[in-house]
Amino acid sequence: MTSTVGFVGLGNIGSRVIAHLVKAGHDVAVYDLNTVAVEAAVALGARSVASPAEAATEATALFLSLPTPPIVEGVVAEVLQQDNPGLIIVDHSTIDPDTSRRLAQDALAAGASFLDAPVSGGVQGAEAGTLAVMIGGDEASVKKVVPLVETYAGNIFHVGPSGSGQAIKLANNQITAANIVALGEGLSSAVAAGVDLDTAVAVLTKSSSNSNVLSNYFPKTLFTEDRPTGFALDFMHKDLGLFLDSAGKAKLPTPVTSLVRDLFSIGRRDGRGGKDFTSVVEFYEDFTGIRLQTKGNNQ
Ligand code: NAD
Repeated sequence: MTSTVGFVGLGNIGSRVIAHLVKAGHDVAVYDLNTVAVEAAVALGARSVASPAEAATEATALFLSLPTPPIVEGVVAEVLQQDNPGLIIVDHSTIDPDTSRRLAQDALAAGASFLDAPVSGGVQGAEAGTLAVMIGGDEASVKKVVPLVETYAGNIFHVGPSGSGQAIKLANNQITAANIVALGEGLSSAVAAGVDLDTAVAVLTKSSSNSNVLSNYFPKTLFTEDRPTGFALDFMHKDLGLFLDSAGKAKLPTPVTSLVRDLFSIGRRDGRGGKDFTSVVEFYEDFTGIRLQTKGNNQ
């Protein structure tokens, strides 16, 4: 069965997700501040509308993929001002659990519902339609949107009440960021000691320090000549800040995240905020003078 849905935020993730929704035959009304992104979505078969509120009109679900909590709050407030009985807002942005819980309450009061549904798998996962989606919110709404989300997700988890999806997502990003920094430090130390980078990578991917970042993500980003941006360093800096705020409210000590976030702050200061988040590792390259680019990745 096909549906009318809205989508706000057509960036790295949103632009790829809507391609799957359109391909599945859904009527997708799109809105973004960036007109170039809207034109690209229309070329894929989506329908351009003039505002987030219009994207929600007659939609069974309104999807969001936006940069920050204040932007999500602004868009949701605008949408909830109009009467959308039964509308389900599915927020794929990475924001904080508290804001998600507040927005879920606002939506309920307006006769709609709001699910926090952050994603993992990045640009490659969005392109391939294999994203992992971790959803917090009421079960009835989750059940209604699963057939839509399935068009672009490989794994869908209903993890608990409102806010739970974001709590897991922030932990996922904190763990990934710490892994990236540890790999940058370890690999830089090996190459500074004279080991060939390709050799180091071949050994470590078969050893106890192997990870998804090392074997799957670095070969598409850090290890290449171009280092294309899939997920901006600025965004990871934001997510680590959200993690620290949430953990702070729970009075949890966070020595690892505090240190890792400082390295991302240094990356921003050094002009790397718009680059892929793996470029945080260039901090170490500045010391060794050796670029962490593998052979055969120079196309
Ligand atoms: P992006 O910057 O590429 O896209 C964001 C889009 O939102 C842009 O097109 C921008 O023009 C639009 N936008 C900003 N403010 C707007 C507003 N008020 N109204 C309408 N449109 C607006 O970001 P992205 O990489 O696609 O990430 C989106 C969200 O998903 C972020 O919260 C990010 O943390 C999260 N996320 C990203 C990745 C990734 O690999 N890129 C992975 C998982 C989660």
